[in-house]
Amino acid sequence: MTNAPRASSNRYRIHPLFATFVDADSERAFQVQVAPATRRHLCVALAVWAGLLLVFAVPDYITLGSSAAFYGLLAMRVGTAALVGGYAVATILRPTLTHNFAAISVLEIVGMTGFFLIYFLRPEATAYSVGTTLIVIVGIYLLVPNLLSWSTLVTGYTIVGTLISVAAVAPAGAAQLVALCIILLLPAVTGFVIAYRLQALRRTQFALITEAEHTNATLRQEIARRQALEKQLEHRASTDPLTGLSNRRGYEELFDRELARARRQDTPLSLAVVDLDHFKAVNDTYGHTVGDQMLQNLAQEWTILLRGLDIAGRLGGEEFIIILPDTGLAEAIGVMERLRADTESYIPIPELPDVHITVTIGVTELRPDDTGIRDLIERADAALYRGKASGRNRVVTVDPYPETTQPEASSR
Ligand code: GH3
Ligand code: MG
Ligand code: MG
Repeated sequence: MTNAPRASSNRYRIHPLFATFVDADSERAFQVQVAPATRRHLCVALAVWAGLLLVFAVPDYITLGSSAAFYGLLAMRVGTAALVGGYAVATILRPTLTHNFAAISVLEIVGMTGFFLIYFLRPEATAYSVGTTLIVIVGIYLLVPNLLSWSTLVTGYTIVGTLISVAAVAPAGAAQLVALCIILLLPAVTGFVIAYRLQALRRTQFALITEAEHTNATLRQEIARRQALEKQLEHRASTDPLTGLSNRRGYEELFDRELARARRQDTPLSLAVVDLDHFKAVNDTYGHTVGDQMLQNLAQEWTILLRGLDIAGRLGGEEFIIILPDTGLAEAIGVMERLRADTESYIPIPELPDVHITVTIGVTELRPDDTGIRDLIERADAALYRGKASGRNRVVTVDPYPETTQPEASSR
């Protein structure tokens, strides 16, 4: 029956007769979403209804004067207006009443029942009353927010009630009643068709928007997942899997950044190469697994010990690199001396408290003619080589100042 565009999902199938969602959850979600607008429309419709009921007391008075019939009708008008107005106020206090379609329909039926009284107390106005009923039927479908099924029930009651009332006050032939029935059915069918189209269209719109939002949310989730994955891959690509320190790709990139900054801001930059002493013996004595554990634990210990800005990486095997941004040679030697001393007293394998390890460290500072990390590693390596040759467990530099910081007393 509807020409409305279709939402793809089965969840949003629209009832072929009453234009509601067949799926109860979808219908509930729709009602919740349209609730504020529905409440507004309902309040306006009820207020207009109550107002019209009272305004039509004037022609009643002109026709009936101060009679029992007038007061009877007035009581009906005031009573119905109070009921209708009261419901409008109640929806403001209790918003769930907006969706209580059964209650709204009962209200309409009570109102219409009162309206039928006019046929009996003012039979001369039957033609006007029928005319008003035609408009009321359109109003039931299009002005009072309700489910199509309930609106149809109320309309059916209105038509039957009108036919009975008219037959009772102005005995008419079957042909006249059939004609009246057809006349009453015309606005009913028109109201039903228009209301059906409107309601189906609103639900289709709701379904399309909800599906689009769902798709958007899924897309956003997918983007976030991919971004996290990308970050993870990026991290993996620049991290040494055993120690978690930067690998060559990682520390070279970080060094280049620090080099550019040092040149731009004219600040010092130092680099150290750290090599474990006699590590082969550790592997030979305790096995490769213990050796690996030692490398991991040392990396962790150094990460804690170093300053936030310092960058630790694994050069390969049991050799490490430490980049010290904004640090001159003397300060770098001081930091490395701390690292050396800490390592010497550190227990790298808690299960083997007697096993200790020492490191020999070569340190160098950035020079104006250095072109990249290779220049600094070469000098630090040369210093390291000297350190190994002169007894290990020491911090050494080949840079002009100072020659070495490792006093003979603290070497092994
Ligand atoms: P030196 O004091 O002269 O540096 O002696 P060293 O034994 O540490 O040096 P050498 O170069 O002779 O041996 C390095 C050893 O480091 C050899 C190898 O078994 C060990 N090694 C290198 N990479 C790893 C690793 O990833 N895991 C383990 N467990 N051992 C490693
Ligand atoms: Mg070594
Ligand atoms: Mg080595």
